[in-house]
Amino acid sequence: MVATGEAPRCQRCGTAFNPSRRWQRFCSPACRIAFHAEARHRDFAYASRVLAEAGFTDAAEFLTHQAAVTVPLPKAPSGRSDSA
Ligand SMILES: [Zn+2]
Repeated sequence: MVATGEAPRCQRCGTAFNPSRRWQRFCSPACRIAFHAEARHRDFAYASRVLAEAGFTDAAEFLTHQAAVTVPLPKAPSGRSDSA
């Protein structure tokens, strides 16, 4: 079932938004940048730095706060299980 006419939600923060492009997945450029930075590095501090460099200082401050309260993620298991 596809709910047409319903506002999509940002893939990163879950905020309902009105996309200007059909394929838009994020409510804002800040969320898009942060999403990719976090997905790639699993690192809020890194994401906040990327945001700050891109000019999103408010979002960067928010992520800096998250980095302060987020416990470090566990290391990836050394045994790889992605061989099919
Ligand atoms: Zn968002």
